Formats: sequence, C-alpha cells, structure tokens
Amino acid sequence: MTSTLALADEITVALPELKLLIANRWVASESGKTFTTINPSTGEEICQVAEADAADVERAVRAARSAFEHGPWRSMRASERGRLLHRLADLIESNVDQLARLESLDNGKPVSVAKAVDVAKTVACYRYFAGWADKVHGKTIPIDGDFLCYTRHEPMGVVGQIIPWNFPMLMMAWKLAPALATGNTVVLKPAEQTPLTALRIGELILEAGFPEGVVNVLPGFGPTAGAAIASHMDVDKVAFTGSTEVGHLIMEAAAKSNLKQVTLELGGKSPNIIFEDVDLDEAVEGAHMGLFSNQGQSCCAGSRVFVEETIYEQFVERSIARASKRVVGDPFDPRTELGPLVDQTQFDRVTGYIESGHREGATLACGGKRIGNRGYFIQPTVFADVQDDMQIAREEIFGPIMSVISFKSLDEVIARANRTKYGLAAAVWTRDIKKALAVANGVRAGTVWVNCYNVMDTRSPFGGYKQSGIGRELGEYGLQQYTQVKAVIAKL
Ligand code: ADP
Repeated sequence: MTSTLALADEITVALPELKLLIANRWVASESGKTFTTINPSTGEEICQVAEADAADVERAVRAARSAFEHGPWRSMRASERGRLLHRLADLIESNVDQLARLESLDNGKPVSVAKAVDVAKTVACYRYFAGWADKVHGKTIPIDGDFLCYTRHEPMGVVGQIIPWNFPMLMMAWKLAPALATGNTVVLKPAEQTPLTALRIGELILEAGFPEGVVNVLPGFGPTAGAAIASHMDVDKVAFTGSTEVGHLIMEAAAKSNLKQVTLELGGKSPNIIFEDVDLDEAVEGAHMGLFSNQGQSCCAGSRVFVEETIYEQFVERSIARASKRVVGDPFDPRTELGPLVDQTQFDRVTGYIESGHREGATLACGGKRIGNRGYFIQPTVFADVQDDMQIAREEIFGPIMSVISFKSLDEVIARANRTKYGLAAAVWTRDIKKALAVANGVRAGTVWVNCYNVMDTRSPFGGYKQSGIGRELGEYGLQQYTQVKAVIAKL
C-alpha cells in the first residue's frame, strides 16, 4: 500500500504508511479494513487509509501503557523530552510546504492559510511546550508538625486524544505537545475526514526519535475507534475537540468506564458585539474575518454579530460588500480566501441552515448558493434581520454564514449574548473602555476579544464555559490538564 501524492510540481509526499502507527511501527488494521479520504474541492478520493477500531485501540493502549510503565520515556530526563519536542518542531518547520499542501488537499482550506496559520502555529505550539518540559514542578508546603511536605506534578499516564477535522494538524499539536512535555504516552485518533497530516507527523515523530509506543496514531471513525478510546479501562485521560453532542458521549463513556479525566473543547455560538462608536471599516473587517476564516468551520467563529441599531443598516451594507468580495475557489490558488467545506455532510448541514434562515424570516442579504457543481463550495452568506430565537442564531452552523442582529443597549446585549448553552468566545468593539470591560466581565465565555477577533496564542489559555467545554488548552493552564498532583509527606 504505497501512495505517492503529488502536491505541487516539485513537492510530493510518499505515504507508504497509510497505516496505523502502533509501537513505532506502521501496521495494517486488525480487520484489514480501509476507508477513503476525499478531496473536498472535487469530492474525489485522495487515497485509502487503514481504519482502526476497538481491536487496534487495544493494541495501541497496550503499547502506550508499556511505554509509560517500562520504556525509556519513564526515566528520560525532562530536558531530553523537551529536546525531542524541539526536534519535532524543527522537522515540521522544514516540511512546511509539504504539510501545508497536504492539509489543504485533505481539508480544503487555502494553502496560504494552512502555511501561515496551521503549520506556523503548530511549530510554535511544539516549541512552546518543549520549553515547559523541564519547568513543571511542585511546591514545598509548611504543614503543621515535624514533616517535609512537597508536591510532585506527575503525568496522567496513557492519554487518549480525539482530534477534529477543522484544524487537524494544529489541534493535534494543542493536545500532543503538552501531553508529551509532561511525560504522558498517547493514543491519538485524527478525524476520519482529515487523517493525512496526522500520519505524516507520525513519520516525523519517528524521525525525531521518540521512544517506542510513546505516540500511537490511529485513523478511524468516531463511534468505533473514538468510542473505544473514550471507554477504555486503561486510558487515564481523554482529551477531545469536537461537537457538544459528541462531548456528552465522551464524558458518558468516561463516567461509565474508569472515571478517566476529560478535557473537552466543544461547540460555540460566539457573540461579536459592535457599538456605534467604532471605526466601522475596522469592525466590519474584524467581524468578517471572525466568521469567514477557515470557511466558518471554527468553534469560536463570531456567528452572532450584534450591532448597535444606530449603525445597523450601514454595517449590513458594508458587510455585504466585504463578503461579496471574498475570493472563493481552488485552495491551491494563492488568491483564494475561502475554500470548500470539508465534506458532503457538512455541506448538507450548512445548506440546511440557509434554508432554515429563509424559512424563519431572516433577510438573505448576500450569498446563500452553492458554487459550481462539484466539491463543497458555498458562497459567503450574510443574513440580516436575524432574531435571537431563530435556529441560525441559536445553533452552531460551522460554515460561512453570518447572522447580523440588532441591539439597543449595553445591559440588553450582554443578557442576550449570554442566552445560549455555549460559552467559548466573545468579542466587543468600542472606543469606550467602560463598555469594553463591562462586556468582558459580563459575558460568560472562555475568551473575550476587545477590538480584535481570533487572536490566539500558544501562551494564552483557550476553552469553554458552559457546554462549550471542560478544562483549558494552551499556556500554563493547558499543561495542568496533563499532570496530577501527588503530595509526599515525610516525617523528619
Ligand atoms: P463534527 O460534528 O464537527 O464532525 P465530531 O464531534 O463528530 O465533529 O467529531 C470530532 C472527533 O470526534 C472526530 O475525530 C470524530 O471521529 C470523533 N468522534 C465522533 N463520534 C465519536 C464518539 N461517539 N466517540 C468518540 N469520538 C467520536
């Protein structure tokens, strides 16, 4: 099963190992089954990938357990773990063009974005956590009596990681880097829509020299391979990014098996609040990018754009102008800003929401149609006159559909912004510091942006309030999700 993918004239990638990575070896799945990964620009097959299910998860967990208990990983110096992560970051960086193209081919995102955002932030993430590897430590605590009390921050053990398809390589980095920096071993499942970069990074992990069984990569489907990870009795923790619905299933599986720890980064319906005193062009551009980046397939997309009623009409007009200018097309064309949606399922879901917006009486201000007759391209779409109780204002769409909603006052908009089961992110645009901070304090969300949107940094925590998640990723907070605290008390 050798596959050579031509990604550009001079760039090919040989993936003889479109298999499973278990114990540092590329192996076929026990069932021998494979699945198709498709190119979302055409709907055609890219290649076949080995399909893991419960039996393969079993093998991988055994390899990860053995690596955790007995392998060189356990006794390796923390600084050496950091060195391996740095080496991996270097290898990813030296393959930037290839990885960006592979991500673009499998996911549909513009290759220019894959390079400037996905690969660049992936490299930064591995480097950041590489730096932490030898800086994770406990405290000494002056307890009563004649004792020495200190804490150790120890790894969780075998960690299951379930990755989404919207930022495949980057979400893998957010999970893998802190887990490895803190000395865990990992069984990781990429999303079935986008397994290719995870496999290529699996190769780079071997090249970097990680010991046997430390990282195991199992492409496969959610209800089979994913569920087997979440319910496994010998997996100590599961970290998941994906839909809130599946988040419930993961937590249920954890509760019903061994009470493994969970980190969940789930859906969103983030409010983006724009007051009348802003620089309008700046806010229009900010709201545009906050929604249409990554084809709108972003958990923190600013999908409820609340605009103060005095500037509402003007805002809608300029947003239409901007959305209509957004360049949609071949992700490999450097001018492209918006590629196809990831697959048919996502395409059907998004077009269903466009119909629902119509049905419920929102005004279709621009877009709303499919582009071409192959692949999953949808026009950048703006709905005006959206009311809070419409489906498009309540449910996560995960596509290039902006809903613009009018508001009158500060208190009212904060209350309305919070009327959702989600709480991932929010933004406020104003020159008035009091209003900005009132929103920042009043909105129940894990990240609040002031006069900007989508500013993400490896050092700053990211995660959700309410049903947008449990725990935080990135930064020092993200590290804590991968260690547990042991108190040692010695009589003196
Ligand atoms: P989306 O709805 O955006 O496709 P999902 O939440 O379905 O996102 O998928 C995100 C990740 O979760 C994917 O890797 C998918 O395979 C996995 N997944 C889906 N269903 C389950 C499940 N029941 N148990 C474990 N993982 C799952």
